[in-house]
Amino acid sequence: MEQTFIMIKPDGVQRGLVGEIIGRFEKKGFTLKGLKFITVDRPFAERHYADLSSKPFFNGLVEYITSGPVVAMVWQGKGVVTTGRKIIGATNPAESAPGTIRGDYAIDIGRNVIHGSDAVESANKEIALWFPEGVAEWRSSLHSWIYE
Ligand code: UDP
Ligand code: MG
Repeated sequence: MEQTFIMIKPDGVQRGLVGEIIGRFEKKGFTLKGLKFITVDRPFAERHYADLSSKPFFNGLVEYITSGPVVAMVWQGKGVVTTGRKIIGATNPAESAPGTIRGDYAIDIGRNVIHGSDAVESANKEIALWFPEGVAEWRSSLHSWIYE
């Protein structure tokens, strides 16, 4: 089934939003497949955000992501990439709808609390980068209560 890469950024960790954010994905019905609490270095952050390397905000973005520990996760479920982006909200919190994570918990674009893959292809690339060891093989016993 479809998987996405979700990362709680250093500001989300510092602000005590880890439980709240994980709870939103859990309660939706998605399945946690991988989770790690790590501080990444500059080369790693530059690889994760390689597509944005020509942007004027790239250096600040790499500084931000390497400024403290992050919670890196793999979540699985039907349509999890697109729905995950909806749960997260628009990139700029000024435009994120209330009820989304960024809409509820962020103000500035450069402190927008969370990352989520934007397509299945980028999700697979990001999962391979952050979880080269692979993810957990398990099936929730709630499966038939969530999927018809
Ligand atoms: N970002 C920023 N300034 C901008 C655009 C993006 O600081 O003008 C940061 C922001 O933290 C964003 C990240 O760069 O989440 C990656 O940008 P992208 O366009 O991929 O947004 P996302 O996929 O995270 O919504
Ligand atoms: Mg993006």
